[in-house]
Amino acid sequence: MKPKTKDEKKKKLSPGRTASNNLFALRSIWRASPLYLAVYLGSSLLYGVLDFLSEGYLLRRVVNGIDAGEDIRGIVRYVLVLGTVMLVSYLGMRLFWNLVSPIEQRKVGAYVEKLLFRQAAEVELACYEDPAFYDKYVKAMDEAYSRMMKVMYTLDNLIARVVALAANSALLFVIDPWLILFGLFPLLLGFFRRLANVARHDMESERKPINRRAAYVRRTFYQGEYAKEMRIGGMYATLLRDLRETYADFRRVIRRHGLRRAIYGYIDVIGLEVVTILGATLYAVWSTMCVGSANGGMQVGDCIVVLGSIGTISYCLNNLLQNFAEFGEHALFLEDVRYFLDYEPAIRGGTEDVPPTGGEIVVRGLTFRYAGSEQDTLREIDFVWHRGERIALVGSNGSGKTTLVKLLLRLYDPCAGEITLDGRPIRDFSLAAYRGSFSTVFQDFKLLSLSVRDNILLRPAKEGDDARLEAALAESGAAARVARFSAGLDTILTREFDDKGENLSVGEQQKLSLARVFADDCPFVLLDEPSSALDPIAEYTMFENMMRATRGKSVIFISHRLSSAVLADRVIMMEDGRIAECGTHAELMEKDGKYAAMFRRQAENYLGSEVSING
Ligand code: ADP
Repeated sequence: MKPKTKDEKKKKLSPGRTASNNLFALRSIWRASPLYLAVYLGSSLLYGVLDFLSEGYLLRRVVNGIDAGEDIRGIVRYVLVLGTVMLVSYLGMRLFWNLVSPIEQRKVGAYVEKLLFRQAAEVELACYEDPAFYDKYVKAMDEAYSRMMKVMYTLDNLIARVVALAANSALLFVIDPWLILFGLFPLLLGFFRRLANVARHDMESERKPINRRAAYVRRTFYQGEYAKEMRIGGMYATLLRDLRETYADFRRVIRRHGLRRAIYGYIDVIGLEVVTILGATLYAVWSTMCVGSANGGMQVGDCIVVLGSIGTISYCLNNLLQNFAEFGEHALFLEDVRYFLDYEPAIRGGTEDVPPTGGEIVVRGLTFRYAGSEQDTLREIDFVWHRGERIALVGSNGSGKTTLVKLLLRLYDPCAGEITLDGRPIRDFSLAAYRGSFSTVFQDFKLLSLSVRDNILLRPAKEGDDARLEAALAESGAAARVARFSAGLDTILTREFDDKGENLSVGEQQKLSLARVFADDCPFVLLDEPSSALDPIAEYTMFENMMRATRGKSVIFISHRLSSAVLADRVIMMEDGRIAECGTHAELMEKDGKYAAMFRRQAENYLGSEVSING
C-alpha cells in the first residue's frame, strides 16, 4: 500500500465546509425535485409528532386519567381523533411513497448523473492518468447520488429525533428535572463516535483502490475481449495471483482498522445501554419505592412513563449525535464529489468558430511531456499541414505519432510551442467546434452496443442520413457485411443486450469505424492506424477509397504499412519524438535515408528480396 499523501491524511473538514457540503447535497436534490425533498422532510415532522402523541404522551394521559378517576369518554375522544389523523396521514404517505416518490427519486438520480457526466466529458485526458484524481473521479461516480440521498435521510432522521427529543424531554422535565442528566449522558460519547467515523472513512478510502483493482481483474475473467489472452500462456495464473494479492491487501486493511472500530463501537453501546438506560431505571425505581410520592418522589404512573421516555431520549440523543457524525462522513465523501465537479478543466476552449472549410494548420516548436514522465515525448515539432493535404505519419512504435495526433485534437495542450489554424492559436476556438471539425478513427477505436447507424453517425440520425451511410459503408468495405444483417442499419452491434445483435471480427469493426470518416464531412481527418486489422488487399482498397472520398480534406493518417504512404501527398517520418524526415514519398526514396530503408525492408518482406523497388 502506498504511503498516504499529506492531503489524504487531512481528513477533518471545518464545520463550515461540512455544512456547505451537506447543503450542496440538499440543494442538488431540491433543484431536481422540490416536491420530493419537501414531502420527505415534512413527513418526518409529522411522524415525529404523531409518534409522541401515540406513545409517551398517550401513556401518561391514560395513567394519569385512571389515577385521577377521569371519565373514560375523554380518553376515548383523544384516541379517536388521534387515530383518524394517523389513518389519513399514513394513507397519504403510502400513496406518495409508492406512486410519486420512485419517479421523483429517479429525477434526482438523472440530475446528478447529468452533472457528473457533463464534467466527465470535459476533464482532460491527463486526469485519467493521475491516480489521485482518478480515484476521486471513481468515488464521485460511485457515490455522488447515494451520498446526496443519504444526506437527506440523515436530515430526515434528525428532524424526527429532534421532535421526539423535545417532546419527551419536556415530559421528563415535568416529572423530575434530574432525569434529564441521564438523557444527556450519550452526548459524552460523541467523541468516540467521531473517532469511529474517521476509522470507517480511513478503511473505506484504503479499500477503494483495492476494490478497483479486484473489479478489474474479475472483469478480465468474464469479458469477451480478454477471452483469447486468458487462454494463452500464463495470463490466467498471473491475474489469479493479482486477485490473491488484492485479497491479501484487503485483509491487511481490515486488520489495521477492525480492532479500532470494534473498541469505539463497544464504548458507545456500553455508555448508552448500561449507563443511561439502566441508570435512569434504577433512579426512577429508587425515587418511587424508597422516596415515595408523598416525600416528593415519583408516582407509579410517572415511573412507568420514565422507563419508556428515558429510552426514547437516550435513543434520540444517541441518534442525533450519530446524525451529526453522519453529516461529517457525508461531507468527507461529498468533498471528493465537489472536487471533481468544481475541477476546472485545464483544456478550455475559446469562443471562435472553426471555418467550415477548415484551413491551414501550423505546428511550431511543439514540445510535450506526459505528466509524471521523465522525458519529452515530442520535441520541437515543426510542420505546416496545408489545406487539403494528405499526410502519412510514419515511424517506429513509441516515436510519438499518436501523441502528435492527440495534441492536434487538443486532447492535451503542448508544454511548449503552439498549433495554429489559419493563423489563430487553436485554443481560441470553441472546443466542441474545433474537435467537431475532425473525423477521427483511433487505433483503439470503440464500437458501442448500439445500432450500426448510431455507431457510424455518433449523433442522432437526420433525414437523408441513411443514403449517406450506405455510401460510407461501401467506401469503407463494410457494405457487404452489413447487407447480411437482418435488420440492416438498425442491427445492434454485440449480443450483450440483443439476441439478434451481431458480433463482428476486429477487421469488420475497423471497417465500420472507418465508415465514420466517410459519412461525415469534417474538413480534417485524423486516422491512427485505421487499417491495422485489415488484410493487405482490403487495406489498399480502403486507402484508395479514402483518398478519393477525402479529396479536398486535410488528412493525416498513421500507418505501419508504408505501401499506403505512397498514396499521401507528403510523408512525415518521426523518430524519438522528432521529425526525422519529411517530403513526398519519391523525395524520401531519393534521399535514401531512414524512410527509404524502412520502406525497402517492408517491401522486401512482401515481395521477396530479389525484387527491385524504386518507390
Ligand atoms: P506511437 O504512436 O508512435 O507508437 P505514442 O505517441 O503512442 O507513439 O507514444 C510515444 C511515447 O509516449 C511512448 O514512449 C509511450 O510510452 C509514451 N506515452 C504514450 N501515452 C502515454 C501516457 N498516457 N502517459 C505517459 N506516457 C505515454
